[in-house]
Amino acid sequence: MEPDFTRKVPDGDNMERSVCTRCGFIAYDNPKIVVGSVATSGTRILLCRRAINPRKGFWTLPAGYLEHRETAEDGAMREAREEACATLTIHQMLATYSIMHISQVQLMFRATLENPETIAPGPESEEVALFEWDDIPWDELAFPSVAWALRHYHQVKDSDAFPPFTNPVEGLQPGLLSPSLPFAAVVSSSASLTLSVLTKAAVSSGPSTTFAPSFLLSSMCLAMKGPCVMMNRI
Ligand SMILES: [Zn+2]
Repeated sequence: MEPDFTRKVPDGDNMERSVCTRCGFIAYDNPKIVVGSVATSGTRILLCRRAINPRKGFWTLPAGYLEHRETAEDGAMREAREEACATLTIHQMLATYSIMHISQVQLMFRATLENPETIAPGPESEEVALFEWDDIPWDELAFPSVAWALRHYHQVKDSDAFPPFTNPVEGLQPGLLSPSLPFAAVVSSSASLTLSVLTKAAVSSGPSTTFAPSFLLSSMCLAMKGPCVMMNRI
């Protein structure tokens, strides 16, 4: 018999779900898990230039959706293989990011690239490359969380043991946006105004100001309530 779904709040639940009227089966629709890595060879970091949308042409870390019946570590290794023909050894969990507006949880690992001489773009990459920290193309990164992972990696690159990071305090968590932070207020104003104000701030403030560039980015993201397709300032 075909299922016949209707939207209702199941007994004992507090959210509307798709429930089969014939057998009571509940089709839960939950966030997706993305697995990825900051993979290094010596002091250089592996990045992939995206050959697909969203953010075609921008640089990202090897990462993608976890498959069914796959460990997070295996998924991160598979994504690196698919996107960069890269062979990784996975080390610690680097960070867990909650990207609420697109219902994603990202699990990012620290990894070592085992075949730096033979990396090559897979079907989803236009180009793959190893970047020294000072050469990272910050203005051409695909997503805010790519910058977060890179910064978090950099903070612990000389440590063997560290607690995993979470979203930067300024990133994508409205409850954590401190009212005392400059520009927090503009998040609630119109998206275009916010974009204009924040873009000017990002341009004029430079890297040494008190508000982290990623705050500017994530604020734009919040203001637009959508995928971060327009953001390329980090
Ligand atoms: Zn049914």
